[in-house]
Amino acid sequence: SEFAALDARIEADEAAAEADLAQPVLAVVGRPNVGKSTLVNRILGRREAVVQDVPGVTRDRVAYDAYWSGRRFTLVDTGGWEPDATGLQAAVATQAELAMQTADAVLLVVDATIGATATDEAVARVLRRSKKPVLLAANKVDDDRLLADTAALWTLGLGEPRPVSALHGRSSGDLLDAIIAALPSAPREAGEATAGPRRVALVGKPNVGKSSLLNRLAGEPRSVVDAVAGTTVDPVDSLVELDGQTWRFVDTAGLRKRVNSANGAEYYASLRTKTAIDSAEVAIVLLDAAEPLSEQDLRVLTMVVEAGRACVLAFNKWDLVDEDRRHAMVRELDRGLVRVPWAEKVNISALTGRSVRKLAPSLRTALKSWDQRVPTGQLNGWLSELIAATPPPVRGGKQPKVLFATQAGIRPPTLVLFTTGFLEAGYRRFIERKFRERFGFEGSPVRVNVRVRE
Ligand code: GDP
Ligand code: GDP
Repeated sequence: SEFAALDARIEADEAAAEADLAQPVLAVVGRPNVGKSTLVNRILGRREAVVQDVPGVTRDRVAYDAYWSGRRFTLVDTGGWEPDATGLQAAVATQAELAMQTADAVLLVVDATIGATATDEAVARVLRRSKKPVLLAANKVDDDRLLADTAALWTLGLGEPRPVSALHGRSSGDLLDAIIAALPSAPREAGEATAGPRRVALVGKPNVGKSSLLNRLAGEPRSVVDAVAGTTVDPVDSLVELDGQTWRFVDTAGLRKRVNSANGAEYYASLRTKTAIDSAEVAIVLLDAAEPLSEQDLRVLTMVVEAGRACVLAFNKWDLVDEDRRHAMVRELDRGLVRVPWAEKVNISALTGRSVRKLAPSLRTALKSWDQRVPTGQLNGWLSELIAATPPPVRGGKQPKVLFATQAGIRPPTLVLFTTGFLEAGYRRFIERKFRERFGFEGSPVRVNVRVRE
């Protein structure tokens, strides 16, 4: 039954992660000068300024966060995609093709004062094959006299042409209502603030000093008195005050009631660790500074990273560390902690109390990173520069293209790259490393997912 509860929790987490990735994407396509950028600006309410096109300079932002009627979606301006096709018609058709594959819905913008051109018709032909919703915006309808021009656009075969004036904002609300209606239902807001104290798991191999640290942090009597959320017989969590903030140390019951059965003790210890990590937001991984990093330590760390929790590394028993040990550690940790170069390290002694007050600031940093979201516009501005400088490696004779990215989720921060080809793990790690160099995220794992549309 403990296993069943654990499985249910993992499933719930995975479902939540899936939902985060489902933030709907709307791609805006159309010929140059029909007013796509103006319309994108209008939809964004100018919260994220669109960089104006300068001839010969690549538009460096392609995707943005948009909100309407309490719904969030990603707005993609395909003008920044630079298709390889030569000729305007082929270029716009290629854009439409990519938009169709990448987005959940496509908005074709046409200049109603000009009417449907051959290029508009070519694009419409591409879009009519789409199984996804396509909306037709008849732009530059600045006043009622132009409504007749709008009706003429029915000939494109994309359903009702929706009159709008991107410049003056006329009917843009109606267009947005239609967009929201066409998009797949928006996911819940990912990981919004949870009520109450932040949840901390104190984990590490047996005898590393977990009980000692908990008692040191909480004070012996308090850790019992403040036990919460369980029955009076078997309290589960402890409330601990650190650095002026109350924290909930989860699943601490097992720390006080030591499981001493020789049989299966390790199994229960590992199960307890998993349960604690899953119920927490951030983990303090205790390591024994006086001993070499062990297999067991790495197993615990892996659990934390795979669960996507923020993390602080606490090297306990620092009072036993001498000069020689310190030198040995440097090399050892470089090798042992390659998976978590982003985790903050604190050297403590639960026995003497040395530096234990440094834990709270590190916990706060880690949680701040875990909660952090980079706006889509800013993310793509950075990403397009990075990719221009270091494109993904060619694979099977094909150059995969990264079209745009969003940070689809927080807790943990999760990037989704929308691409036209597979991105190797090495390149995804490169992106993660550069992302951290640019935006921080100390103390939190960062996930880089790829949505391939071919
Ligand atoms: P894009 O190349 O499709 O992104 O087009 P832009 O957004 O750069 O717009 C091209 C030109 O059309 C600009 O001079 C805009 O000011 C103008 N424009 C855009 N929307 C409207 C509109 O609703 N009415 C009028 N009259 N002009 C517009
Ligand atoms: P747990 O199994 O992880 O809960 O570990 P305990 O808290 O029971 O500690 C295991 C042993 O390590 C005990 O004998 C502690 O007194 C000792 N210990 C814990 N922290 C320290 C420390 O910072 N320095 C030293 N020298 N010993 C420690």
